[in-house]
Amino acid sequence: MSHIPEVLAVDMGGTLLRVGVVTADRTIAQQWVHHIEGRRGAAPIGAALQSALREAAGWMSAHARYPAGVGIAIPGVIDPEDGIARYSANLDLHNVPVAALAREVIPAPVAVENDVRAAAWGEYQWGAGLGTRYMVYMSAGTGIAAAVIDDGRPYRGISGAAGELGHAPVFPDGERCSCGNVGCLETVASGWGIVHRAAQSGMVRVGAGLGRSSEAALTVEAVFQAAATGDRAATAVIDDAGVYLGQAAVSLVRLLNPQKLILGGGLFFAGSPLVAAVTAAVEGVSLSGEMPPPVSLAAFGSNSGLIGAACLLLAPESASRPWELS
Ligand SMILES: [Zn+2]
Repeated sequence: MSHIPEVLAVDMGGTLLRVGVVTADRTIAQQWVHHIEGRRGAAPIGAALQSALREAAGWMSAHARYPAGVGIAIPGVIDPEDGIARYSANLDLHNVPVAALAREVIPAPVAVENDVRAAAWGEYQWGAGLGTRYMVYMSAGTGIAAAVIDDGRPYRGISGAAGELGHAPVFPDGERCSCGNVGCLETVASGWGIVHRAAQSGMVRVGAGLGRSSEAALTVEAVFQAAATGDRAATAVIDDAGVYLGQAAVSLVRLLNPQKLILGGGLFFAGSPLVAAVTAAVEGVSLSGEMPPPVSLAAFGSNSGLIGAACLLLAPESASRPWELS
């Protein structure tokens, strides 16, 4: 058995369920990716989680390793005290006892947290937020959300629903959003919003070709690619997304006065024009002599969720490690 504590980390997204063996020296020793597209609801998601954990536990056992705990990151409103997913729109979960399901497979401490808050926690403890006490993590991918570290603690709000930035309205008469409201930030600046607007505008490059495309055939990567090669419609859509993400970032900075703003999620991949847009927006504002906070990319990139889930146990809010408790 290894002397360095290690945990099983789970990053549950709408399409991928990722599991990793993460060690306290900040490495991912092994990982598995499961496609769960189309699986929604407590029974299919619970079964996918348990079978993924069983596989990972089997690998650990075969290598004479033992998980000191399980950290799970899930999109939606999470109750970390009781380990329950109160509500997850993407996965269609309502009051699902996620920690209890995991414990049926692995009898060890289990920590459950909202995915973006977990990613922020990982960046705060081990990544781009090291050395800060007040930090904001802004995630833009399929959806948009923010997580706040306030004096070294994650800010959750009264019911754990803090940070739903993507569902803040930006257009009074805008498009219908996935949440049912109208004109949310996600309708113009999320992965799905960008694809939807590009399809509406008609002409975009898809792969090597240039032509009119149905929304179904479009991907956000194709829209970025078209913008990079000068397609005017695609460029306008990406520019708009940058403007609205920049405004949202400035609002976060104005409201919270963080030491650092960290950008994560698939739309903020290295070299993305959206990183430049948000950075310029934040650096362009100053308030009565206050310097704007530095903006940087998430250190763990697409592994932020997995590392964050591990940090729930390996670098928890309380000083003591859960497995050290009697
Ligand atoms: Zn919305």
